[in-house]
Amino acid sequence: MAQAQPDRKLMKRLLHQVGRAIQEFGLVQDGDRILVGISGGKDSFTLLYLLQRLRERAPIRFDLVACNLDQGHPGFPGRQLEEYLRSQACEVRMLREDTYSVVKRLTPEGGTTCAVCSRLRRGILYSAAAEMGCTKIALGHHRDDLIESLLLSMLFSGKMRSMPPKLRSDDGRNTVIRPLCFASEADVAEFARSAAFPIIPCDLCGSQENLQRRRVKRFLSDLEQEHSGVRASLFASMGNVLPGHLLDARLYPREGQTGADPWIDGDDCADPAPLLATARF
Ligand code: SF4
Repeated sequence: MAQAQPDRKLMKRLLHQVGRAIQEFGLVQDGDRILVGISGGKDSFTLLYLLQRLRERAPIRFDLVACNLDQGHPGFPGRQLEEYLRSQACEVRMLREDTYSVVKRLTPEGGTTCAVCSRLRRGILYSAAAEMGCTKIALGHHRDDLIESLLLSMLFSGKMRSMPPKLRSDDGRNTVIRPLCFASEADVAEFARSAAFPIIPCDLCGSQENLQRRRVKRFLSDLEQEHSGVRASLFASMGNVLPGHLLDARLYPREGQTGADPWIDGDDCADPAPLLATARF
């Protein structure tokens, strides 16, 4: 299958961002065997493409296994996807588990299917990675996914958390990495367009995308139109946490305990003036 030539300038920027994520968070080590989760969407195709380019020029050796899970969604073009992946000169593993029927059975009429669906998918990918001797699982979540997840968690779960660039599973068997964490969704979408990846529509399952995520996405887009840079600021805040200005008692040293001083941030950063100068809420 012939591959279109992707936008070179964009590729340079994305490669730089992936390289930065790998360096800053220690995502890839010499000898790693990395399962790259391929859903058939723009993000995972872009991730695979960029990791392949980095692998060609990296001073360390690591292997990639492009892995797709066909979840049994009606009309899923598994054969075409496999053909494309095999044309990309990397190891390919196609899995098939009918989670679609399970999700349909377990979800009440009108309920959101994504939570059950993604939990099942994660379990299958984790087992496959362990069985194939993969040391890491790379997923295509980008900067905007991280920003939306942060807001979703704060708004609906009462926790300040997002999708970390590197996460060890509870049982210690798997490590998930997100090399696209510094890349914007707009860049990834434009890159995928220029490379003409054979993208599979994401509505095959018949479910609407998670409703709350869609609302948060819309909210951010509206806000961004009014105040350009709010997404970038939210993203920056995840790398600039001041625990002494929050309310988590677990982060405060107890009486007589040595350790980080929660007030080390001082009180300058609590001054709202610089924010109020630019914001008009
Ligand atoms: S959109 Fe469909 S395939 Fe994707 S997680 Fe939700 S239910 Fe699963």
